[in-house]
Amino acid sequence: MILIDGKKAASELREKLKQEVVELKSKYNKVPGLTVILIGDMTPSQIYVRNKEKSANEVGLKSEVIKYPDSIDEKTVLNKISELNNDETVSGILVQLPLPKHIDKQKIIETIDPSKDVDGLHPMNVGNLSSGYQGSIPCTPLGCYLLIKKIESNLVGKKAVMIGRSNLNGKAMAQLLLQEDCTVTITHSKTKNLREECLQADVIVAAVGIKELVKGDWIKKDAIVIDVGINKTDKGIVGDVDFDEVSKVARALTPVPGGVGPMTIACLLKNTIECFKRSQL
Ligand code: NAD
Repeated sequence: MILIDGKKAASELREKLKQEVVELKSKYNKVPGLTVILIGDMTPSQIYVRNKEKSANEVGLKSEVIKYPDSIDEKTVLNKISELNNDETVSGILVQLPLPKHIDKQKIIETIDPSKDVDGLHPMNVGNLSSGYQGSIPCTPLGCYLLIKKIESNLVGKKAVMIGRSNLNGKAMAQLLLQEDCTVTITHSKTKNLREECLQADVIVAAVGIKELVKGDWIKKDAIVIDVGINKTDKGIVGDVDFDEVSKVARALTPVPGGVGPMTIACLLKNTIECFKRSQL
């Protein structure tokens, strides 16, 4: 079984991006800039944002984090986003989710200029992805896609099963694999016979949020299994895939932690650089 090392893949990608930033700096005399807006004091979000900032600095991006308290009003955040939209030094804007209840997520996402939407969640970018046009691709599915391609470069005709249909993960992942000519099934909480669906799959991407949902007897021999899930347990963080069971059957599997997570952050940096490059055309 191939243990898909997301940490190593992310580090290789960051190294490439670092080189690219050096080249962009010498060509344009400026570097791409990433601004993250963090609202509230939820610990996981704070950790994610800290990691994003650290990685952005590591590859030489200009990075900034704007922090607001939980009680911030929506108008202030929307005004800040408009200001960042007009700021030439900002190539990418990310508003860390989830948001406090009194802030309308859709309004926030739609206010971000699609050309700076490094999370790929603006409806324009969702449409771009489903149409096969250029635009930002959500970071986690993009990371999963790059990991899958490392294992299998030719995915034509493969059967791919997404578990989970969120905008952030399952739906975007399905589009990426469709573009690779996979036959894609999107499953979700109301899917009947999930095990039977999974047993058909050459590629499975699990993004659910239920610890160790996917069992060894759900997996076709030689399948590639990507585990997006992050579930807190007494034993620490585990994924949506039962690692011990599935690793005995699958051809390749991502660990949790150390699989998809590091690639997500590296892809955020990649998206920021892509936004910068498109803005220079
Ligand atoms: P979500 O809650 O938005 O979506 C979960 C999906 O799972 C839904 O579409 C739902 O229909 C489906 N689902 C629920 N129960 C199911 C069941 N029994 N069988 C099949 N499908 C079921 O979650 P999300 O934002 O897509 O995140 C999913 C998981 O991925 C979470 O654990 C989250 O923490 C993790 N995540 C990880 C990263 C990373 O970088 N590694 C990034 C984003 C999210």
